[in-house]
Amino acid sequence: KLSDADKAKLKNMNAELARLGTKFSQNVLAEVNASYIVVDDVKQLDGLSAGQIAAAAEAAKARKLDGKYVIALLNTTGQPALTNLTDRALRQKIHETSVSRGSKGGEYDNTALVSRIMTLRAQKAALMGFPNYAAYGLGNQTAKTPEAVNAMLGQLAPAAVANARREAADLQAMIDREQKAAGKPGFELQPWDWAFYSEKVRQAKYNFDESQLKPYFELKNVLENGVFFAAGKEFGLSFKQRTDLPVYHDDVTVYDVFDADGSQLAIFIFDPYARASKRGGAWMNAYVSQSGLTGDKPVVANHLNIPKPPAGKPTLLTWDEVTTTFHEFGHALHGMFSNVKYPYFSGTAVPRDFVEFPSQVNEMWADEPTILANYAKHYQNCSAMPQALLEKVIAASKFN
Ligand SMILES: [Zn+2]
Repeated sequence: KLSDADKAKLKNMNAELARLGTKFSQNVLAEVNASYIVVDDVKQLDGLSAGQIAAAAEAAKARKLDGKYVIALLNTTGQPALTNLTDRALRQKIHETSVSRGSKGGEYDNTALVSRIMTLRAQKAALMGFPNYAAYGLGNQTAKTPEAVNAMLGQLAPAAVANARREAADLQAMIDREQKAAGKPGFELQPWDWAFYSEKVRQAKYNFDESQLKPYFELKNVLENGVFFAAGKEFGLSFKQRTDLPVYHDDVTVYDVFDADGSQLAIFIFDPYARASKRGGAWMNAYVSQSGLTGDKPVVANHLNIPKPPAGKPTLLTWDEVTTTFHEFGHALHGMFSNVKYPYFSGTAVPRDFVEFPSQVNEMWADEPTILANYAKHYQNCSAMPQALLEKVIAASKFN
């Protein structure tokens, strides 16, 4: 039990940690918005689709750089353009801009914040009687101890590293072959080459490229005939779009979610597009937590960062974005099926090292053949994805 003096100390630490945490996130968002790459000549964008080039021109206009092109960064380490850009120097620039965020100096640098957060965490753990912050943080997780975490990582890491080395060897072989065929000097695989040559190896191995798939993965179709369809098959859920509720952004759609017996289970908010004010990645949020005590039904949202297409163009997803949509909906299901008395324990308020379980399971429906066949339809003529391509998708989804 803490003395009054220690309680006061803990309160101060928690307050400072909360402040630093908020500042950290604000810096991350400000830095990603400030870290775009300007391209003068459209030739440098070789490899991008017409849609991607149009988006880059629009992004430049939005920054008053008319006539130029802007590659805006997503708030992830990898950047989608790296898959397609043939200009290696530009790939390097994008990658380096991406990974230097937060630690390159300047007003949004988080280095000092991280150092202060770690100091405070170590002090907090000591105050609470733990040898370190990892032990303190894991006390109420399913893993329980740092030893258990390290034992599991010790099992995973050798297999993961072996896989990565095998993939790197495949990529290097592709580079060597291509450079030789073009009569150009070879080079060593670098991080900014990984996505680009992965896509080439994938094309060679499975004989298709991402751009062949995208027309079959229109966003609303993936959501309604893929994600919702799977939830209908698995749990008997049904969904009805609502247009009468006020939303915080025009791009947001809202659905009533009905349980198998027809009663209302939840409201689902779908917010797919990247915006300058939005934090990166994809996540689920419960705006109203289910609670037997208050009688509240859950209102849950999925927030994604899919690049918004130019006006009038359809939103066509990559395979990665399709699986992310399924994944995040697994978290949404976790929140919607919550059945507890106290809102404190509602939905995804479970140990952090369990919380990815429902989402990982839901993600597996994306390439389940009957589900995939139900949503993989061409956005222009609704034609089904050709069986051969469908099979390649399933095979290639196990690749990289
Ligand atoms: Zn997740």
